[in-house]
Formats: sequence, C-alpha cells, structure tokens
Amino acid sequence: MTASLSEIARERGIKYFLISYADLFGAMRAKLVPAVAIDGMVKNGAGFAGFATWLDMTPADPDLFAIPDPASLIQLPWKPEVGWLAADLWMDGKPVEQAPRLVLKRQIAAAAELGYVMKSGVECEFFLVAPDGKAIADGADTQAKPCYDQQALMRRYDVITEICDAMLALGWQPYQNDHEDANGQFEMNWEYDEALLTADRHMFFKYMVKSIAEKHGLRATFMPKPFLELTGSGCHSHVSLWQGDVNVFDDPDGELGISALGYQFLGGLLANSDAICALTNPTVNSYKRLNAPRTTSGATWSPNSITYTGNNRTHMVRIPDAGRFEVRLADGAANPYLLQAGILAAGLEGIATRADPGARLDIDMYALGHTVADVRKLPLNLLDAIRVFEASDVLKQRLGAGFVGSYAKLKHQEWNSFCRFLTEWERQNTLDC
Ligand code: ADP
Ligand code: MG
Ligand code: MG
Ligand code: MG
Ligand code: MG
Repeated sequence: MTASLSEIARERGIKYFLISYADLFGAMRAKLVPAVAIDGMVKNGAGFAGFATWLDMTPADPDLFAIPDPASLIQLPWKPEVGWLAADLWMDGKPVEQAPRLVLKRQIAAAAELGYVMKSGVECEFFLVAPDGKAIADGADTQAKPCYDQQALMRRYDVITEICDAMLALGWQPYQNDHEDANGQFEMNWEYDEALLTADRHMFFKYMVKSIAEKHGLRATFMPKPFLELTGSGCHSHVSLWQGDVNVFDDPDGELGISALGYQFLGGLLANSDAICALTNPTVNSYKRLNAPRTTSGATWSPNSITYTGNNRTHMVRIPDAGRFEVRLADGAANPYLLQAGILAAGLEGIATRADPGARLDIDMYALGHTVADVRKLPLNLLDAIRVFEASDVLKQRLGAGFVGSYAKLKHQEWNSFCRFLTEWERQNTLDC
C-alpha cells in the first residue's frame, strides 16, 4: 500500500500543503491546508468558488472541488515545510470539462488509445526586473548583444543557482543556465519528460522562479514582451512521441532523422497552428512578441509565419535533431497544460488525417520571408487568434466544444477590456485628426 499524504508529511516534515490548480488564464490558485487535513482533501477535494477565478463559471454555481494528485507532490525547496500538489477540478461529482489539466489529460488519453505517449521539454524564458516591474533589475546589463553575457549571468549567480540547485534536488535533471538575448533575460533548462509531468513542472517552475526572485528582492516575469525594443520571452516546446522506449519520431532513414509519422504530426501542427495560437500566445501582449520588428540584439527569435525548417531558428518549427520538433511559437504567458494540449491535439489530428507538412524551407525567414509566396501568417493580434480558435472544428472536437467556448468567451472579455483602454499611441496619432 502506498503511503498516505499525511504519512509522507510526517516522514518529510511537511506542515502544510498547497492544493493548487491553474485556471484558464494559467493563474495558479491554491488553498493552504494543514497536514492533518490533507487525507480528507485527497478524498473530497478542497472547496473553491469557481466564479472567483478564470474558469467561466457563475456566482450561483455550486462548490468547485480541487482534488490533489498525490503523484504531483513537490516539497518547496525554498520552504520545505510546504508541499505543493497539482489538483484536478470537479463540480457536481463530475470532472470540469474546461479545467486545463483535464483538457491535457484528455489529449494524453487520446494519444494512449493509439499507443503513443508525448514527451516534451519547455524552455521558459523570463526577465528579472525591479519590484515595480518597470525596468530590468540590473542597471549594468546594457549590452546590445547580451546573449550568454557571462558577467551579467554571474551577477545573478545567487538567484540562478538557488533555482538550479532546487531542480537538481527535485531530480528534474537541469543541465544549463544562461543569460538570454534580451537585457535582464534568463533561461534555465531541464530534461524533457511525459507531457503531464512537464506541464506540472512548468507550472511549478514559474512559481519557483517568482518566489526565489522575490526572496532576493527582485521580481521575475514571464510576460511575453515586457520591453518593446528587446527580445521577448518565448516558451519553446520540444516534442516527440513514444511507444514504450522507442521514439517513433526517430527514423535514421527519414529526412533530417524524422519518421513518416513525425511528419504527419508536424503536418497537423502546421495546419492548426493559427488555431492554437490563442492557447500558445494567449495575451494581448503576446502579439508584440510575434510579428515584431527587429529587436536591438538584431533578431526577435520569434516567428511571424507558419513554416518549418532544419536547424535554423528563424522558423516556427525547427528540427534541431533527429526524432523531435522544436515548436518556437509559444510564449511565457501560455498556460502550461493548454500549451501541451494544443500541440498534442494538433499533432494527433495530423496523424489521423495523414497530414502533409509540405517541403521545409531552408531560408533565413527574417531576411527572406517576404520572398516566399503562399506562406500562411500567424494571427496579428489576440482577437484574430481567438476568432480562428473558436472557429476550429478540429479543436472543438479534440479539446471539447465546452472548453473552446469557455476559453473563447473569457478571452473575448479580455480583448474587450483592452479595447476600453485609451492608449498613448491614439493620442499621439489622432489628436490632430
Ligand atoms: P535550444 O535552446 O537549442 O532550443 P534547449 O537545450 O534550451 O534547446 O532546450 C531543449 C529542450 O528539449 C530540453 O528541455 C530538452 O530536454 C528537450 N528535448 C530534448 N530531446 C527531446 C525529445 N526527444 N523530446 C522532447 N524534448 C526533448
Ligand atoms: Mg469561505
Ligand atoms: Mg534554449
Ligand atoms: Mg531561449
Ligand atoms: Mg529553443
């Protein structure tokens, strides 16, 4: 018999548990539960008022229950008396259709029916900024090409290594940390794993980076484009599909070491990329990273069009190596569960339809993108993205019509809220009309 969470708490000195879930906007919601109460919560869930978070519920709805997944337990490395648990959402005795972790679990089940397991690795770029969020925290970090800047990286040694040490202790197999392409921007990489585990870790990573940055008097942000002239924060997702120990995207005889099945998955991903943009690039600000003019470093490193290539970072999908794709579309605002769910749904659709991704493009898209005829463009703004998303029969069928409807409804509200904001640009350009 496996040990109960209260027994684990006694063994490991856990005094409190965070029962945590991600709402549709990827915000982490939680209750802090004393260890004596945890076994009851595992059985019955922790109660929430669903309307109070972004889940498309009403104030009249009954209690929402977050049932923690004991397998997801992570003891906070910077506060070991607290154990974090990812939870699944239930209401009226039924799973909540639009709950992001459950949306991903449905895609994982669909893949399992075909005998496949998707594995993913995410690269979560972030900025360290001053607590008011208005400027990067390190005034000396001013190089035009700051990527891999050793001096600026080492000025943040205490923060970065506290996070990396935590990942080492948690067994995530981190393997590198660097200063990224924008001043104040960093990336920390750990090993890929099954999509649900990676999504749980991705949620926890964001929480951990923010918490440890706060401890050091800083603020960490995953905002896609916090500074217009600097490279934005992407969240590249590397994916492969497995049958047992075999990576079925791997084929030494295939183009660039990718199997026919891999190319079908890619075909589905390309065909549905504009539709999943509302998930991968979910905020108004996301579209200031996509379709952006060149940054001060010389390149945005983000895509504008739906294309793929070999080991070339100017396209939406890169094949860096045999047996996997790097999807460079998503940004730091993506809900970790919906990011993986969107990619997997699109890829499974590709397998179901034996989709053809067409020929790869081996050009520098930044310099020569305009010379290619018939290239499909990514949505230019959040409203365009929501419209393609909500019109997608593939996504309605695979992710669930209820989920798509709820998500689109809340995102329309967000867009409308943005449109009610009077910008300085309008004043500058319209005052003299
Ligand atoms: P880059 O910056 O070159 O894009 P990184 O090293 O920052 O690459 O990130 C690569 C990510 O891809 C890591 O999370 C790594 O574990 C993951 N990865 C490597 N191989 C695979 C694979 N076969 N399937 C899924 N993810 C993979
Ligand atoms: Mg109350
Ligand atoms: Mg990287
Ligand atoms: Mg990067
Ligand atoms: Mg990358």
